[in-house]
Amino acid sequence: MSSVSPIQIPSRLPLLLTHEGVLLPGSTMRTSVDSARNLQLVRNRLLKGTSLQSTILGVIPNTPDPASDAQDLPPLHRIGTAALAVQVVGSNWPKPHYTLLITGLCRFQIVQVLKEKPYPIAEVEQLDRLEEFPSTCKMREELGELSEQFYKYAVQILDAVSLEERFKMTIPLLVRQIEGLKLLQKTRKPKQDDDKRVIAIRPIRRITHISGTLEDEDEDEDNDDIVMLEKKIQTSSMPEQAHKVCVKEIKRLKKMPQSMPEYALTRNYLELMVELPWNKSTTDRLDIRAARILLDNDHYAMEKLKKRVLEYLAVRQLKNNLKGPILCFVGPPGVGKTSVGRSVAKTLGREFHRIALGGVCDQSDIRGHRRTYVGSMPGRIINGLKTVGVNNPVFLLDEVDKLGKSLQGDPAAALLEVLDPEQNHNFTDHYLNVAFDLSQVLFIATANTTATIPAALLDRMEIIQVPGYTQEEKIEIAHRHLIPKQLEQHGLTPQQIQIPQVTTLDIITRYTREAGVRSLDRKLGAICRAVAVKVAEGQHKEAKLDRSDVTEREGCREHILEDEKPESISDTTDLALPPEMPILIDFHALKDILGPPMYEMEVSQRLSQPGVAIGLAWTPLGGEIMFVEASRMDGEGQLTLTGQLGDVMKESAHLAISWLRSNAKKYQLTNAFGSFDLLDNTDIHLHFPAGAVTKDGPSAGVTIVTCLASLFSGRLVRSDVAMTGEITLRGLVLPVGGIKDKVLAAHRAGLKQVIIPRRNEKDLEGIPGNVRQDLSFVTASCLDEVLNAAFDGGFTVKTRPGLLNSKL
Ligand code: ADP
Repeated sequence: MSSVSPIQIPSRLPLLLTHEGVLLPGSTMRTSVDSARNLQLVRNRLLKGTSLQSTILGVIPNTPDPASDAQDLPPLHRIGTAALAVQVVGSNWPKPHYTLLITGLCRFQIVQVLKEKPYPIAEVEQLDRLEEFPSTCKMREELGELSEQFYKYAVQILDAVSLEERFKMTIPLLVRQIEGLKLLQKTRKPKQDDDKRVIAIRPIRRITHISGTLEDEDEDEDNDDIVMLEKKIQTSSMPEQAHKVCVKEIKRLKKMPQSMPEYALTRNYLELMVELPWNKSTTDRLDIRAARILLDNDHYAMEKLKKRVLEYLAVRQLKNNLKGPILCFVGPPGVGKTSVGRSVAKTLGREFHRIALGGVCDQSDIRGHRRTYVGSMPGRIINGLKTVGVNNPVFLLDEVDKLGKSLQGDPAAALLEVLDPEQNHNFTDHYLNVAFDLSQVLFIATANTTATIPAALLDRMEIIQVPGYTQEEKIEIAHRHLIPKQLEQHGLTPQQIQIPQVTTLDIITRYTREAGVRSLDRKLGAICRAVAVKVAEGQHKEAKLDRSDVTEREGCREHILEDEKPESISDTTDLALPPEMPILIDFHALKDILGPPMYEMEVSQRLSQPGVAIGLAWTPLGGEIMFVEASRMDGEGQLTLTGQLGDVMKESAHLAISWLRSNAKKYQLTNAFGSFDLLDNTDIHLHFPAGAVTKDGPSAGVTIVTCLASLFSGRLVRSDVAMTGEITLRGLVLPVGGIKDKVLAAHRAGLKQVIIPRRNEKDLEGIPGNVRQDLSFVTASCLDEVLNAAFDGGFTVKTRPGLLNSKL
């Protein structure tokens, strides 16, 4: 022992009771503090910054005791270790607790507990001399790390105050430990004696798992797996280059200790390599006649699309290669784009896989991460191939118009490489790092709009427009396809439920407003669920007549509430008819199941004031009717625009106002002060309500003019007229796009007349006959014609007897 004067610990110490191990002098330990008593101690003694108290604590080992948090102090171990708190880390999750880093200084013995609450404080007697510990520090530290099984020994070592006694205790333990290690080394003799690296590394690994022998079995299993993997590589039909890489990697793997992070990475890589369908494909069975029948059976209407798909397939059959443009179906959601893609796969007898590209903005999503990355993965193309297990599936690249761009590279560029027939026979995913031949994959893309498809991609594609459906088409689709599918999914038969066509029409017009049939399908699903409950309830009633009606009804409600949209059946309507009678879904049942109608026609109400006109807008979700509203107020000639607008719409508004100002005299339009200068002391506010979708495009020009003409003339616009068209400063009406979708939207909304630019007349040919019958069309080449059609009795001055109503 040294002769340096010993350092004294305080004679009174706050006691920290730990149950996570025994802290020995010279060792350091992390202990978590979560009992009320210890939390108080930490707060009072360690966290009160200004405290002059020392941060020396008395650490007492406390046998794990379920009641350790109880109010009363448990019987205390007599000897403990004075410790210095080196670090306190606090957290509130999942409950308040601290983690202390404490270093043992010397032993002490409790003389007397002075205080028990809020945390114990004891008068103590120091047992070791402080400067003594460095000599045996290392050994103690190791022993202190011994796990719970050694708790008993550790406490005994703590209690052994005299050095001699302590050596007597620890030496047998150390000897045992060394023997154990030797034994492990013997049993662990590697199978391949020549592999020096394995011998060198394994014992080290064992030492880190002193107490366990359990890993042995795992390891044997692992070794078996590696042998299997090697066999698979040998028998795999992968190309030579890939094979070489695999052989090299498995060699490396065999030399690697399993604890190395790279071990798992390499193994995953090799597993993917052997799993990939390098040479596995399905045999195409292509019979154009059968394909036509299948497409017709699965899809109502969409003639143009089906025709083009059949042509595409026919060319393939004759030419037997896939070079050529990629088909891209463009149209609103729910018009059957994905579904046609699936049918193409079915006709060819190929596997189908959908790759959602919406929101993808990192090229590694397509092309994978390099393997040096932590958590690296192959891209979606390689992943898709692994999923389908063949190298010639149909890949549906969904929503190519929603690809993003970011600092992580442009995914469109990566996609180009995938789609280019000149390049894709050796597509290299960063993760694989060897080429994979994609030339047998049939790619089909879908999009809602071509406007946002990257130009280079668009160039490679043949766009096939899939417009929305008319009401009649929707009814047919519902009755031929959607309802039978929903019935099957819900285990119902036509004998149990009947949905008449008028009900379907009601759902289409009053519960949905969409170009496709997705919401319609969802509503039909909701009806089937409600009916399924009723049918099950009826059967249930028959089987168990003794059960009270009330509980059954409650059961039914619970079931319905679980659905995505809670739609309740009112208690007053009894849909539970005897099981042999089909449940008829009439308007009342519809209201009970789906709630009150969401879209009631409000057109005439909204057009009951001057300054409102109905425009037709095209959005990626289909056509939409759009109310344009205008008001004027005293001001300084400002124009305010609100609503979801694109820049082009703002320009249209300025054009419209300029044209009206320059023609004010001709039409006798005045502001509130009777002046032909319409903006004199007047502000105008234009608003484009309805829908959160930004309506860009110039096609609102004619609507804005009509709306403002109404405002300044005080006359009402006809409530059954909708219009679309771009304007020029001189009052000409220019053609616009999306006529079919727009006309369908006007028809859906129950309007009677549509004003379109004259040069769009040819687009009317694509409109279904029944829609054309229901609507009358006015084609206009200048604004005069538009205004004459939009107002009852025309708008030009000569035809109008009472000129103006300047009150408004
Ligand atoms: P999209 O890919 O255009 O968003 P989906 O292919 O997902 O649309 O179609 C939605 C649902 O509507 C599917 O169940 C599909 O079968 C059905 N569907 C759409 N159009 C038709 C159609 N013309 N005939 C039969 N079912 C259709």
